[in-house]
Amino acid sequence: MKKLRFSALLFAALLCGCSAEPEKCVRSIYAMDTLMSLTAYGDNAQEALDRAAERLAELEQELSVTIPDSDIGRLNSSGGVPVTVSDDTAEILRAALEVSAQSRGALDVTIYPVLREWGFTTGEYSVPDSETLAELLENVDYTRVEIAGNEVSIPEGFAVDLGAVAKGYASDCAAEIMRSCGVSSAVMNLGGNVCVTGSKPDGSPWKVAVADPFGGEYLGTLSVSDCFVITSGKYERCFTGEDGRRYHHIIDPATGYPSENGLSAVTVLGESGVECDALSTALLVLGEEGAADLWREHGGFEMLLVTDDRRLVSTRGFAEKFENSSEMELQILE
Ligand code: AMP
Ligand code: MG
Repeated sequence: MKKLRFSALLFAALLCGCSAEPEKCVRSIYAMDTLMSLTAYGDNAQEALDRAAERLAELEQELSVTIPDSDIGRLNSSGGVPVTVSDDTAEILRAALEVSAQSRGALDVTIYPVLREWGFTTGEYSVPDSETLAELLENVDYTRVEIAGNEVSIPEGFAVDLGAVAKGYASDCAAEIMRSCGVSSAVMNLGGNVCVTGSKPDGSPWKVAVADPFGGEYLGTLSVSDCFVITSGKYERCFTGEDGRRYHHIIDPATGYPSENGLSAVTVLGESGVECDALSTALLVLGEEGAADLWREHGGFEMLLVTDDRRLVSTRGFAEKFENSSEMELQILE
């Protein structure tokens, strides 16, 4: 799992093209356990990327589950005592809890003890027995997370992991920096979570490829401007158990086992990175029917569901922007 191990933050490349008009700046950063690539155009592009890189480093320090004095580190060792957290942490938790309620617990940031038992936090994988999982699930319940302003508390024995939502929130922050620096053309890929600001420098929409969970190159491309395109997939992190079965990193909090509800991947398109990220994880757990129900009930986003039996199901708003280059037929949800 993504567990926000966020080890060292490595500033890899700073490549500023100087001859083209408008100026193009590209920066690669390793943060939140993932490679992030940021591209911005125009006069203020370099300053915007510098500020975005700083902001991503700051978020890592606040949100990492493996940094003991991060907000999440302190919360997880708080023994039930309220902890004062940053505005960022409080905001992410609020956004996650809202989607937890909408999805009736399919997204649950208190799933961490279960993730840890599976080894998704360390890479030392093993399949827990069902008694252990049942016991751990007693300490999983998002309704027990209490937030009052910047004071957060969780019961003793509970632990939180923001791996399902942090990169989406980080992309919101990066997009905000682009806007405040006057950058009107940027594309940022935070480990598969894509955020586009404005359109391409020539005014045409950005083309965002949607990954193929079955190992092909990609399923197709979205033509979009000013939005977030965030995917959750079973293929992203998985291991083969001693029993020869494949286990992936998105856990169904109802069972403690990796979610097997017939979906291989979900892509969410919307205007809030943190919301799209929370939703993509929740919808993957909910399965095709549950995802469709949540969309009909709450709306405010577009989505593409890729089923295990190789069907594509999407909302009309998604289909209108999507060029399907796969062999799978696209069915529209009404
Ligand atoms: P994403 O790639 O955004 O779908 O996030 C997946 C990550 O979220 C996993 O690697 C875990 O760290 C964490 N996670 C797994 N299952 C859940 C769940 N049901 N609710 C919240 N977080 C989860
Ligand atoms: Mg997510």
